[in-house]
Amino acid sequence: NDLASLLDVTVNEIISVCMSLGMFVSINQRLDAEAITIIADEFGYEVEFTKADEDEETTEVEDAPEDLGPRAPIVTIMGHVDHGKTSLLDYIRSSKVTSGEAGGITQHIGAYDVRTDNGDKIAFLDTPGHEAFTAMRARGAKITDVAIIVIAADDSIMPQTKEAINHAQVAGVPMIFAINKVDKPNANPNKIKEELANMNLLIEEWGGKYQSQEISAKTGQGVDDLLEKVLLEAEILELKANPDRKAVGTVVEASLDKGRGYVSTVMIQNGTLKIGDIMLAGQHYGRVKAMFDHLGQKVQEAEPSTPVQVLGLSGAPQAGDILKVYETEREAREIANSREQINREQSMRTKKHITLDEIGRRLAIGSFKELNIIIKGDVDGSVEALSDSLLKLSKDEVSVSIIHKGVGQISESDVLLASASDAIILGFQVRPSTSAKRLAEQEEIEIRHYSIIYDAINQIKDAIEGMLEPEF
Ligand code: GDP
Repeated sequence: NDLASLLDVTVNEIISVCMSLGMFVSINQRLDAEAITIIADEFGYEVEFTKADEDEETTEVEDAPEDLGPRAPIVTIMGHVDHGKTSLLDYIRSSKVTSGEAGGITQHIGAYDVRTDNGDKIAFLDTPGHEAFTAMRARGAKITDVAIIVIAADDSIMPQTKEAINHAQVAGVPMIFAINKVDKPNANPNKIKEELANMNLLIEEWGGKYQSQEISAKTGQGVDDLLEKVLLEAEILELKANPDRKAVGTVVEASLDKGRGYVSTVMIQNGTLKIGDIMLAGQHYGRVKAMFDHLGQKVQEAEPSTPVQVLGLSGAPQAGDILKVYETEREAREIANSREQINREQSMRTKKHITLDEIGRRLAIGSFKELNIIIKGDVDGSVEALSDSLLKLSKDEVSVSIIHKGVGQISESDVLLASASDAIILGFQVRPSTSAKRLAEQEEIEIRHYSIIYDAINQIKDAIEGMLEPEF
């Protein structure tokens, strides 16, 4: 999608070039540098990778083995709605306050870390569900080491459970199954284990390779054992980091706070972040002014696998952006500026308003629900006939609404209405006035002309089914 808008071609064109090269890609897939070069070449472009892009590729600086020490696992909790994700996160948070930091008041900052009774640290991402997990991954962030899949023992493996399992598997993140609500009289953990086995996910207890634990997020039963299993999984992964280098982390969330300015929660993944460090995240940079933990207490530094709230960035980065520390402010500023420029250029290329071609793109990223249409025609009969047929195209995922219809030329006011309500205009045997045409170009409003009702219906139908052939 991004590459299509950079090259000013449709997504379908990019996808078909990829297919001709034997790559089957989706609309929001990230392409590597080599693929981008080849595809751009097909469209007559030469690719030059700027510093900002290169920088993304090289965030993983190699550390010498002797500099590496163990780091705590970072865990995401996923599962079907109401199976107890939030309850588990809350139970762990309130029962395992990081030792030595007691006394603070819990702040929801998007992540927290705890110590188990044996003194081992575990960090949790506090936005349950696979949507956040996948949104981050779509931005290239690899932040989760272990996924806990919560399944309610009084229920079954549900669609979102399957989705969560899929997402973890695709990301290559090891899973631990937490079979929850075992305190309930109607709980049937064996049924869940059986359902897992039927999905080819055999748990250890039954001779398979997946760890599982019966828990109650309500009473706390089994939660300590679950955390031990997380640590065991982490041990197998041999998670390592070098606390003595400049920090690298991932933004978990960011906001503008009235009194404190831009506040970002960052999960530190390598190195140590210190007060005064020059940091860059997305297109924002600044010096670390202050840091707070999830209990709202001031900290001076943050080590690997520690989530912290950071003050001092010049703006709010996006969740999933990498935060990195730089030697000089000049370096950070230059990269920030070049990223800003790239973003500006990209957003200028993104279409402001809907077009039939754009529908497929928006459908694919799940941001399309309603198609607004304005119909102008030469005679009332055909306007009504077209309108009735188009309304019938509405389906569960996409509804079609005719926000205005009338007889006569397409006027400036039609275009303004389309602009205000993100609509397309269909002209049946009529054309726009010169001023309406100019305004439509300026506002990027699509006007389609038809002289056969059947053609109009077919094109709209194909578009909302995501099957419109791109026009070359
Ligand atoms: P989420 O949608 O997955 O975050 O689920 P919640 O944590 O909001 O839990 C859904 C409901 O199940 C709430 O009413 C919880 O109180 C309840 N619940 C969660 N865990 C348990 C448990 O272990 N035992 C019992 N009895 N109820 C639970």
